[in-house]
Amino acid sequence: MNRIDARAAHQLRSVIFECGIAPHANGSVLVAMGNTRVLCGVMIEENVPRWMKEQRVTGGWLTAEYSMLPYSTLTRKPRDIAKGRLDGRSSEIQRLIGRSMRAVVDLEKLGPRTMWVDCDVLQADGGTRTAAITGASLAVTLACRRLVGENKLQEIPIRQLVAAVSVGVIEGVPLLDLNYEEDKAATVDLNLVGTADGALVEVQGAGEEATFSHEELLQMLSLGQKGVADLIAAQRVALEESAAAPDA
Ligand code: UDP
Repeated sequence: MNRIDARAAHQLRSVIFECGIAPHANGSVLVAMGNTRVLCGVMIEENVPRWMKEQRVTGGWLTAEYSMLPYSTLTRKPRDIAKGRLDGRSSEIQRLIGRSMRAVVDLEKLGPRTMWVDCDVLQADGGTRTAAITGASLAVTLACRRLVGENKLQEIPIRQLVAAVSVGVIEGVPLLDLNYEEDKAATVDLNLVGTADGALVEVQGAGEEATFSHEELLQMLSLGQKGVADLIAAQRVALEESAAAPDA
């Protein structure tokens, strides 16, 4: 099967991480997966939500927000604030990002702090939620690294890296990391979130006006887990490079 951008079925789009793009944030990354680009910024506040204090829940909290900038799509997407409500898709995606980060952040070790993870899509070409998770994982790590550098924490409160990728089936062929054109043509759409040790955090898969077999699901899982492993390798390189550039 020939892909629009001549990629192999198991091949990611080109992945680029630009660390430290928002200097006021504790950690920030602009992640590009092909033409999909997402800004991920992390701010840490030295307090926790009131419900945690009231219920005497110890440790910290992490929450995520996701939004598409109005000019990130082919036709202008009005800001949620202009509509007066958060759209269902954004709220579903930001909860997914929050769950993905909380799966790897040790909130007890974070201490009584709140980590705000903000993901804003700069350019949408399919896979914005998965790019947001992959970028947020790096931004959270950079923010924690800074806390350690400031002697606010003894060690980085992150168990491992997390990354996410999409997989789809087009004309019966499972393909990794769909762009928008492919996403439209796919009969099955699956988003997979996984960790560095090869475990899964979440799998969201659905037939789009179609069904899929047990075998296809297994093939998609293998493809997705290979994609996650490749993304985590790229994250490690970016982390090493940013350690050499201390402002990131
Ligand atoms: N998209 C768009 N406007 C929207 C929602 C989606 O242009 O309001 C496009 C965008 O390119 C996005 C793709 O459709 O990446 C697929 O959207 P989906 O809801 O599957 O989420 P994503 O794949 O971005 O996580």
